[in-house]
Amino acid sequence: MAYLDHNATAPLRDTSRLAAERAFALGGNASSVHAAGRAARALIEDARGQVAALAGVTPAEVVFTSGATEANMLALWGAVQGAADSLEKGGARITRLFVSAIEHPSVLANTAAIADRFAGLRLETIPVTSSGVADMEALKTGLREGKGRALVALMAANNETGVIQPVAEAAALAAETGALLMVDAVQAAGRIPLPRADYLTLSAHKIGGPQGCGALILKPGVPFASPMAGGGQERGLRAGTENVPGIAGFGAAAAIAATETADPALRDRFEALLREIAPDVAVFGAETPRLANTSYFALPGIAAETALMALDIDAVMLSSGSACSSGKVKRSHVLAAMGVNDDVAACALRASFGWNSTQADVEAALKSITNLVARVRSRAAA
Ligand code: PMP
Repeated sequence: MAYLDHNATAPLRDTSRLAAERAFALGGNASSVHAAGRAARALIEDARGQVAALAGVTPAEVVFTSGATEANMLALWGAVQGAADSLEKGGARITRLFVSAIEHPSVLANTAAIADRFAGLRLETIPVTSSGVADMEALKTGLREGKGRALVALMAANNETGVIQPVAEAAALAAETGALLMVDAVQAAGRIPLPRADYLTLSAHKIGGPQGCGALILKPGVPFASPMAGGGQERGLRAGTENVPGIAGFGAAAAIAATETADPALRDRFEALLREIAPDVAVFGAETPRLANTSYFALPGIAAETALMALDIDAVMLSSGSACSSGKVKRSHVLAAMGVNDDVAACALRASFGWNSTQADVEAALKSITNLVARVRSRAAA
């Protein structure tokens, strides 16, 4: 088996599983005053320290959530509502939302909904270059020329291409113009150093922790009014009984991820051999800094869905750049924003490596791709 889909989800690390199992065995609600409750609370606070260390922040800035989708949702709605609530204290409403065209759907869907819900708030898309890098000239012009407080949403690295985004530049522009910055750092964690932002989001399962757990990192003093009200957990910032096993597993994974950076060796070997098998292969974003674990490519003339099924028969697991829902294939919005034509985008496949990937995985994937290319090409020649 060759599992090369770490950007979709990374296999659970053993230490993370053990930490989660210990928490399951313990039981206890972290809000309870008795011994079991205190033990659950201790696990959460240990994990908070581990996640804070990964992000280079203080533990008090970490808010645990049910994943990065929720963290992105909380960050965006919480920032806009928090700024609106700050008027009587001399704050200012957010009237402009700059969002890169290649954000994860959990950002794009929420920013669109926020623009619908808040009258007077304008949504502006930050375009990307043909290499998939958010255009900082466009952001600079937008931020400098417009009026009113702005919130910028720019991910640290893209989940499809792996292309690293100019977050430091966006942060400098935000500081210069008084804008707030929200960074989805889900794919960057454990692979490149994490940037500092007003709002930053993480997901446990992309770094070898459990699915269904994530974090929102809130810089002290930023506008934030949580849409998730209830029992006051997470200092009132995210209500709901904490997912103690998930959080404990997240902490254990974060502790390892904090010591790692992605090694490009497997990805580079994969791409070198791929170019030998299929000289016409297109590798997206290869000309710009990318995460070392991600290879996003198209084998012209071989539809991604056909390729995924053929590879799956050989127990080789990759992703496609398109999503198939209710029988309709939806092309990647990332490739569309990069100006890649639909015929090429329909062939886009992503191999993403991670903590347990091996040379044998690369070989198995390439063997399967070699056979697939030979079959398709011989059919085309017949
Ligand atoms: N942002 C990015 C960049 C992602 O890749 C993902 C996961 N595909 C998410 C957010 C959502 O994370 P989760 O699965 O924890 O909701």
